[in-house]
Amino acid sequence: MKLPHLDWVNQDSPFLRQHQRGFRTLAFEDELEQAYKRYHANAFLGRMRWALLVAMLLALLFVVIDAFNLPDPLRGQILALRLGVIQPLLLLAWLATYRYGLRDYLQLIGGLVALLSGLAVVGIIGLARYHAFPLPYEGIILVTVFFYFLTGLRFTTAVLCGWVSFMAYIATELSLRQGLTGEALINNAMFLGLANVIGSVGCYSLEYTTRQNFLAHGLLQDLAEKDFLTGLLNRRAFTERAERSWRQAQRERHALGVVMMDVDFFKRYNDHYGHAAGDEALRQVARVIGEHARRPLDCAARYGGEEFVGIWYDLNEQQMLGILEKIRSSTEALALAHAYSDAAPVVTLSIGLAYLPPQPHQSLEDALRLADVALYLAKEQGRNRVVCKQP
Ligand code: GH3
Ligand code: MG
Ligand code: MG
Repeated sequence: MKLPHLDWVNQDSPFLRQHQRGFRTLAFEDELEQAYKRYHANAFLGRMRWALLVAMLLALLFVVIDAFNLPDPLRGQILALRLGVIQPLLLLAWLATYRYGLRDYLQLIGGLVALLSGLAVVGIIGLARYHAFPLPYEGIILVTVFFYFLTGLRFTTAVLCGWVSFMAYIATELSLRQGLTGEALINNAMFLGLANVIGSVGCYSLEYTTRQNFLAHGLLQDLAEKDFLTGLLNRRAFTERAERSWRQAQRERHALGVVMMDVDFFKRYNDHYGHAAGDEALRQVARVIGEHARRPLDCAARYGGEEFVGIWYDLNEQQMLGILEKIRSSTEALALAHAYSDAAPVVTLSIGLAYLPPQPHQSLEDALRLADVALYLAKEQGRNRVVCKQP
């Protein structure tokens, strides 16, 4: 996959790492794999619904045909399999696609239903063979192709369903005394086997492409939202997220901490240690900040240059100050030597907090201005400290 300007994606992006590492075995790193499974389930949800609907209609069509064509008692037995096993299974899987809570289990449910339906079709062919009725075995080929291309099953699941059905079919033919001649069986095995090979290859490339799309989507999102140096959110994305947390805090009457952070004497650091060292220091400080803003409604961002900004949701003032003190001390503990700082012999951070207790506030911009005032005071009072202001 060729994507332009990957240099501008932050180099810690898990999407970038996976893209560079490749994924021939159709597996991502752990965290990304979880996200991919969700992406896949949503991407193929519509296809799965339609496939199940079509499968139910086709199965009903076969019920009608069998009802006319089959002799007794074969008719009763086969209709029992079609109406008693296949149809209810398909219906259950179709209903499951509408339960949001089952979204994570759709592969499992779909896989089980596909496998049992495949085995039921093998059973139907076996029954017909037992009663010496010439029912075409090609039904199992149809079902196999269906597994691979229409159900939205992932490669592993589809391959499992396809080849287990294949083996069940061969075993059934072999176990019947009225079975096929050796030649006919080899013929059938070859066609069904090839259907599985073609299905496996097609399904692999389908999933590979879906995974590529997932990565491309993630890379574009990173490109749009993340600061490429530090991997924190960029200013634009921060404004968007912060507005969301802001509105929610207003609605639910929760406190908010709006925070501005600035590296002390960073111009001197750059001047003496070089821009590359400066970049690395910013990355490390950003990592410390990011590690302390992990809950869904918290967020931290690079505001520009050596300034960072953050929002913390629904904490009391003591907890809030505790987190910021932790950020300050952890930055100091990075022990990045800074011989030209008047604040400390290492790189340090000044932090301004606007603590907004639960009340109808004015606006996010006002809060950021207040945090900036607090930051100014922290600089005034000697840097490497946390200062809190309330409206
Ligand atoms: P103060 O303690 O008052 O904050 O002083 P300061 O020197 O940190 O503040 P000032 O705003 O004067 O300088 C900020 C410096 O940050 C200027 C620039 O050299 C550096 N800087 C901004 N962005 C980057 C960057 O992306 N990489 C590097 N290496 N340096 C940066
Ligand atoms: Mg500074
Ligand atoms: Mg600054």
